[in-house]
Amino acid sequence: MDPESSNNNNQTNPRKRPLVEEEANKDKQPATLNCMVVAIDHNNLFYTVCSICEKTLPDPSPNTHFPNSSSIPICKYCNFNNNNNGFFNPASSGSKRLFRVLMSIATQKKVFVVVMFDRAARVLFGCSADEFFDFAKTHPFAAAAAGKALEGEMLKVTLSQPKNGNARHLRVVSVLPLRTGFQPVIETLRELYRARGGS
Ligand SMILES: [Zn+2]
Repeated sequence: MDPESSNNNNQTNPRKRPLVEEEANKDKQPATLNCMVVAIDHNNLFYTVCSICEKTLPDPSPNTHFPNSSSIPICKYCNFNNNNNGFFNPASSGSKRLFRVLMSIATQKKVFVVVMFDRAARVLFGCSADEFFDFAKTHPFAAAAAGKALEGEMLKVTLSQPKNGNARHLRVVSVLPLRTGFQPVIETLRELYRARGGS
């Protein structure tokens, strides 16, 4: 073994092979492309924000429903603003859900995961995140059915780099269903559950 090169290894980064085109989307321009929905992560469709300032709130403990006052996540920003003289009125700090959907899509070249926030997700779901959540409360497996309904759907999406440098996924800034006769998920589900004899 060449002593000099092994010495070098301590000083400089051991020569790594450059990552092979894994991050081909490094350019900052939004890219528009056609793709097919492979799957969505239906276990995790929402996040909770303050209904006043829309800052992200910690998730309430699972399966607790408002208005069980102890489970209302408190917005520390609005709390500061409303909290005059140490008095805090929890009713003034409501919360709501917004969509945040992880979706695997396939292009002609590859399959990868993108994240879709509220505005884009509403196009596919056809309702607000709160409406979908309420629907799912009375219609078991609605989230899984929503995933199934979207699988195979052809979309034209515009993707951008995440603003947050820590974010891992490209972000869907706009989405357009390509199939003639596409209907939003909530419509499909309503038909589905009606056909099953639901309400
Ligand atoms: Zn707030």
